[in-house]
Amino acid sequence: MMKYALIAVVFFALLILVLWLYPLAEPLTQKSSDHSYIIKGVNIVDAEADTVLHNQFVYIKGDRIERIASDAFTPDDANMVQVEGTGKYLIPGLWDMHSHLAFQIAPQVIMPLHIAHGVTNIRDMQGIVNINEERRQWRQDILAEKLLGPRLIGFADEIVGANYDEQDVVEVVNRTAADPNTFIKIYSGILSERYFALAKEANARGVVFAGHYPNAINPIDASNAGQRSFEHAHLFIKHANPLADQNREYYRALYSDEEVDASDRPSVVAMLEGFDEEQFNELVDVMVKNETYFCPTHVTRRYEALAYDQDFLDDPNLQYVPPLVAMIWSDDASGMHEYAKPDGMQTYLEDFYTKGLELTGRAHDSGVKVLAGTDSYDPYSFPGISLHQELEELVKAGLTPAEALVSATSEPAVYFGVTADYGRVEAGKVADLLLLSKNPLEDIRNTRTIERLYYNGNQYEKTDLEAMKTYVADNASGIKGWALSVKMFLRLMKDNRH
Ligand SMILES: [Zn+2]
Repeated sequence: MMKYALIAVVFFALLILVLWLYPLAEPLTQKSSDHSYIIKGVNIVDAEADTVLHNQFVYIKGDRIERIASDAFTPDDANMVQVEGTGKYLIPGLWDMHSHLAFQIAPQVIMPLHIAHGVTNIRDMQGIVNINEERRQWRQDILAEKLLGPRLIGFADEIVGANYDEQDVVEVVNRTAADPNTFIKIYSGILSERYFALAKEANARGVVFAGHYPNAINPIDASNAGQRSFEHAHLFIKHANPLADQNREYYRALYSDEEVDASDRPSVVAMLEGFDEEQFNELVDVMVKNETYFCPTHVTRRYEALAYDQDFLDDPNLQYVPPLVAMIWSDDASGMHEYAKPDGMQTYLEDFYTKGLELTGRAHDSGVKVLAGTDSYDPYSFPGISLHQELEELVKAGLTPAEALVSATSEPAVYFGVTADYGRVEAGKVADLLLLSKNPLEDIRNTRTIERLYYNGNQYEKTDLEAMKTYVADNASGIKGWALSVKMFLRLMKDNRH
């Protein structure tokens, strides 16, 4: 018996070695043509005004929109390609404001999916694997129009509030201040003293901090301290109830390594049932006053509510996900399934999800600025694909299709202070453009009808976008998928900062 066990171990080790040595596919590169383009007779979607400008002529030269006119014109340009836009709709490139490039193999399986689905800019929220070096290089290579991927307009090198971060917050602010493209990601576990020390230092240095709302701190205080955004749709439910203080005290003790009694933690069911209008309105008012953004990532709550549903779990988009990620997701779904088993828990998860939608809609109505984000590579959140799902969720929440589109186009540009370049289809702006076959203001699902993409001065036709998806599916399956998974796993072991 011992002999067979030994053979099995040796065989397995060799298998891992072979997969580790198996070469990664070359990353995709951006096109580089010197063409300019004129899109003729197209309908331009103005999401902010909730209108369509019909029959426009849009001239793209280099990576900018050179001119837009309502009368036909023909620029004197030998390199110009004419594109028939009649009956089609033009929107700006989409932003995913809560994305994770997550692993060192992002160029093989994550970035092409963003581009294939029209996501041209992202805010990267860091993750558990340290890919800081790679991310900086990717950012440059993408801006240099080499590597195919979305621009990283802002990204977090640091997470503060987990147990693996730098303890000296002044150091963290110093490092972040050195690169204007970075910000500090706040995580749930940060305690009061460190949080407000960090906020003070960051505000003094003009450094942005954004992320989870800290479990042990009143979000009203966090908003007043200058946190730029709160992520995830549990924010209002956890804050707006009479048990909120007790909940914060529980987490304070837990994160301070004091003895805690699990029964001191208010049940989430009770928190949801005790929803308090006044506390909700109070937080909303403070967020409006401070211009604290809200990035609810409803797709992740939807997953929690549907984790028992085999049809949902058998998502055909799993073909774009390497086996290791699929295994982690499947394991998470089993956990959710167990969590949902006690009487009434399933209903609770559904209520939590739908209440979250309702509160996002109401907060938005009251003037809270909402950002579209996916938390992709969290279970069943697919890069690129889930951004369109999130837009649908935001419409379920009560935003109009135009307002949902704003949350993924012009609002992110305002967030980053880059409205001169991004967020609208206008002359002078960067020509990140999606040519759609159907009007997204009539039905938000029409953002998926991408016929062509313009990015960094190049045109990608539908066949190009399909080829990007095929490339990812190919990398994520068979021996390539396992080779990727082994590389991800080994990196996770090496750089996991938990
Ligand atoms: Zn996240």
